[in-house]
Amino acid sequence: MARLTFHGAAETVTGSKYLLEADGAKVLIDCGLFQGLKELRLRNWQPLPFPPAQVDAVVLTHAHIDHIGYLPRFVKDGFAGPVYSTPPTETLADLLLLDAAHNQEDDASYMNRKGLSKHKPALPLFDAGDVRRAMTRFRTVHRGEWFSPAKPIWVRYHDTGHLLGSSMIEAEIRSGPKPLRILFSGDVGRYGAPLYFDPEQPPECDYLVCESTYGNREHTDVNVLDEMCEVVTAAIARGGVMVVASFAVGRAQQLIYLLQILMDQKRIPRIPVFLDSPMAVSGMRIYRFYASENDLSEGLSVRADFAFEDASVQLTQTASESRQLNKLKGPGVIISSSGMMTGGRIVHHLRQRLPDPKNTILLGGFMAAGTRGRVLQDGARFLRIMGTDVPVRAAIVEMSALSGHAGHSELRRWLEPLPAPRQVFLTHGELVSAQSLAAELKRDRGWNTVVPKMGESFELNHDS
Ligand SMILES: [Zn+2]
Repeated sequence: MARLTFHGAAETVTGSKYLLEADGAKVLIDCGLFQGLKELRLRNWQPLPFPPAQVDAVVLTHAHIDHIGYLPRFVKDGFAGPVYSTPPTETLADLLLLDAAHNQEDDASYMNRKGLSKHKPALPLFDAGDVRRAMTRFRTVHRGEWFSPAKPIWVRYHDTGHLLGSSMIEAEIRSGPKPLRILFSGDVGRYGAPLYFDPEQPPECDYLVCESTYGNREHTDVNVLDEMCEVVTAAIARGGVMVVASFAVGRAQQLIYLLQILMDQKRIPRIPVFLDSPMAVSGMRIYRFYASENDLSEGLSVRADFAFEDASVQLTQTASESRQLNKLKGPGVIISSSGMMTGGRIVHHLRQRLPDPKNTILLGGFMAAGTRGRVLQDGARFLRIMGTDVPVRAAIVEMSALSGHAGHSELRRWLEPLPAPRQVFLTHGELVSAQSLAAELKRDRGWNTVVPKMGESFELNHDS
């Protein structure tokens, strides 16, 4: 008998954790952290309803924190099995988990300094030592190779084009006369996205677990290179500097790649580009190391090794190098993090650049409620930075084409070739988004869809 239980990304986007059980074997698909609103983050502190020590293996889809960020805690709480991932996912996980640990440690020491915690002292969910211990559990597997994390469960990876190393998981339970097939979509990327290959066609399955981040929303139908060209050209015409708030891993590399193509094709002049984020610089080196995993077909004239460190791209490592950028006169581009402007070096660039109408601030992605990015997006005239109200006179520009997730019709396109599974679970979306896609697939394709609740468990059978 097989069973699937949803311990995260159920009626919400973050915290992906799906427990697959068969004949006594227990495999956890993804081990993500809940992120965003406080009530979600508090869930990370509640013990899981199953003992980590009893889980045989973890299989990861990709390295975003909402899919791997609980892993150090899971190991700390007793999990002692292997963690399977593709090779780039392991390398990125090391970088992203250490960063998450530093954030956890910073938050805890802030709470202690301000006396904000009920717990004395406030402790981080995990620290750098926990990350190092978790990283020793990793075993890497290439896409397309079947392997068994715990018999009778077998799995293999296929590219989803969402992030370097990102993959869906095709699982088979090989205990009956014919295998029971379960497909976990992971996060599905976009079609025609620069730097990433298109998501592979999903293999046939008896049960499907599908993400629904954009289950009810479309991306605008503009070409990302054309949009970037327009944005940069306008920024140069304003005469100042363009500051881009970007996630350090994934987005920042894609931005550099787009700028390189545009300069190479002479659609924009050669202007200095600064990547001002030590983590993004590390991310850059990882993307370069795995050069063959990147789809560079949009920029055939860009050097085949994906030459990040060419003359026009400068990587800033130290804080003093970062401060030097305050002297930069336009034209030029500064890419910095954090992506939603909640912290990091982007904050001092905003303080420096916002008051001058010659400058441009580019918002590169989704801005959650309560972040500085959202405040700017909503058209605020002042932005609170380090106790001061900084006037917003720079041009605030948004670029929708940069999302890493398939939009609604791209998800439908991805699902199109799939014959009806026995049951389809819509996860990894806000409730309205998951429900809307569930209703649509039921109506248009006659699929048996369900939006699982947190902790809900389903029996998986050949015949029901
Ligand atoms: Zn993701």
